[in-house]
Amino acid sequence: MNELHVDLSFPYCPRRCDYCDSLVATGRVADFERYADALVRELRAAAPEARGRIVMSVRFSGGSPVLMPPKALARVMDELRNAFEVAPDADAALQATCAGLSFDALGHYRKAGITFLELGQETFDGVQHDALGLCYPMNSYIDARQLLTFCSWDGLGMSLLYGLPGQNRVNLSTSIVNAVGFGAREIALAPLRLRPGSALHERYAEHPERFDALPRKAWPTDDERLALRAAGEEQLVAGGFTRVTQHLFSADGTLRASQRARCDDVDRLGVGAGAWSKLDGVVSRSTGDLTRYLAHAEDVRAITAAADVLTPVEASCRYVAGRLFAAEGFSHTEHERRFGASLPVPLRAELERLAEAGWATCEGDRWKLTCEGGHRYDDAVRRLAAAAQAEKEAAGHRGAGASPRVAASA
Ligand code: SF4
Repeated sequence: MNELHVDLSFPYCPRRCDYCDSLVATGRVADFERYADALVRELRAAAPEARGRIVMSVRFSGGSPVLMPPKALARVMDELRNAFEVAPDADAALQATCAGLSFDALGHYRKAGITFLELGQETFDGVQHDALGLCYPMNSYIDARQLLTFCSWDGLGMSLLYGLPGQNRVNLSTSIVNAVGFGAREIALAPLRLRPGSALHERYAEHPERFDALPRKAWPTDDERLALRAAGEEQLVAGGFTRVTQHLFSADGTLRASQRARCDDVDRLGVGAGAWSKLDGVVSRSTGDLTRYLAHAEDVRAITAAADVLTPVEASCRYVAGRLFAAEGFSHTEHERRFGASLPVPLRAELERLAEAGWATCEGDRWKLTCEGGHRYDDAVRRLAAAAQAEKEAAGHRGAGASPRVAASA
């Protein structure tokens, strides 16, 4: 039976953080309840599409799913178990901020089967916290730590950002020490990106000169960001963590199923506004229009904003990008086993260009990203996707018969 990963998106937050470009809305408890009802309706409607698959991982992602009333979250989990086949040991994770946790909520999460909390802390430095304009108070981690210890909750991960304005090795190191001391078994160390549309982008990209004279607010150069990544990685490895994906470090060296799903390109069902799915080689995205989503959640066709069938080259590209996100990369042999064909020429050519730029290496027949490639992972994927797109367009010009649209999953 094929594996399935279910991602439940909850696009509400107290307000928008300054560095955020995600789909985010604000609301009240009644809105969150209505949204949970819509998730239940969509799950029910989407279940026939996923027949024959077993759910190995489920993840509530944000926004801030910690705002969802815990009983409503339990209702969604119940519907998932009713409508889908869920493995008894499925990984069930919830993205959370320390500010949203309570004794009552943790009890409900546990009862609903949530086993892992992915805490978004980003930094333990007050100046950098303010620079990011985060929507939750930094010091909420102090109460959260006491609460989680009291509840013996040990399934914990924490995300940190590097390359923040004014960040140096000392304050990145302090954040890592705090995250380890918090009891995080997983630490995600990802680069801060200036995303167009975010308040931070407007502040820094349009007026960089304003910050140059302020060492605690200056935007780091690319070399400084790379050096921070290398220093953070070194500290985590010295502390007994193993790098399991380009950005994720694990204390026991294992990759949870919901994180593995990002590397293995398993079938995925995205439920909720703005969520995306990939089933049988068809990639689809739900509407980001919350009003529409709430009104039509039980009609999957009405809420699908875009859908595309992957060509063989695009399917290979997705596989390659996912495997490059994993620490061990991918081999030509694994690709051939999965697709019954060698790596498409445009992707091979692009990988060789990445290797020339120092972003990727090939040892034997195994490709991996270097530290620099990991730092530029998004750019590397964009380049691979552009190569796949160019091939798709060229095949279109050569004639429909030359570009069969097939399912991506083998
Ligand atoms: S908590 Fe996350 S999703 Fe919400 S506004 Fe902040 S960065 Fe965006």
